[in-house]
Amino acid sequence: MVPKPLILATDLDGTFLGGSKEAKERLYRLLSRRSKEDALIFVTGRDLGFIRRIIQEDGVPRPDYIIGDVGTSVFEGKDFSPYLSIESDIARNWQDKPERVHPILNRIRGLTPQPGPFRHRLSYYYDKAFDPGTLDLLKETEVDVLMSAGVYLDILPKGVNKGTTLLRLLNALSLPKEAVVCAGDTLNDWALFETGLRGIVVGNAEPALVQKTRAMPNIYHSVAHGTEGIFEGLNHFGYEE
Ligand SMILES: [Mg+2]
Repeated sequence: MVPKPLILATDLDGTFLGGSKEAKERLYRLLSRRSKEDALIFVTGRDLGFIRRIIQEDGVPRPDYIIGDVGTSVFEGKDFSPYLSIESDIARNWQDKPERVHPILNRIRGLTPQPGPFRHRLSYYYDKAFDPGTLDLLKETEVDVLMSAGVYLDILPKGVNKGTTLLRLLNALSLPKEAVVCAGDTLNDWALFETGLRGIVVGNAEPALVQKTRAMPNIYHSVAHGTEGIFEGLNHFGYEE
């Protein structure tokens, strides 16, 4: 991509997978032709099976790296193998957490486990019966709790999220932070924007995310949705085709 290197770290649902068919094809084509200085990083709650499928069936370009499971796993795009130097720290952090957290979550109303398997996180759906105040019960367990899109609740190793894992990956690979543009649409992408890296909040974003990022100088709020919103943001940051 001209005229300057682009490291696009993007959420999938509602962001990289959103927008019109034409905009998606245009962006995917552009990123399929990326140069050595460019990189594509998926930052998603989706699993590898889903990502393999959309690459094979929907023309989605193969990413260089995948930060999956809401920031708790990292894979290299070439063969989707775990990026061990980062993952081993996360695994160590998570080791005893499920057995500490499960008995407490079982007592909280309004939570339904999401279908797994999950490696370094626990994920639930929450409904009207759920009272966020009950999460105080988890205080001593050294986990982070993330609620997003009005329905998802993730329990993550403390200090691990999409943003901190992205920063660790950039450091490990010695990739220049000034070339990075993040993109997302829900509150679980907040951690990306909180890093201080440049970011695009797409037009269809969850209102709570828009609210939280409104005053941040590193963030551009697109009017357009999904991939069109990514294009709009990239233009704002000086990337033109
Ligand atoms: Mg999303």
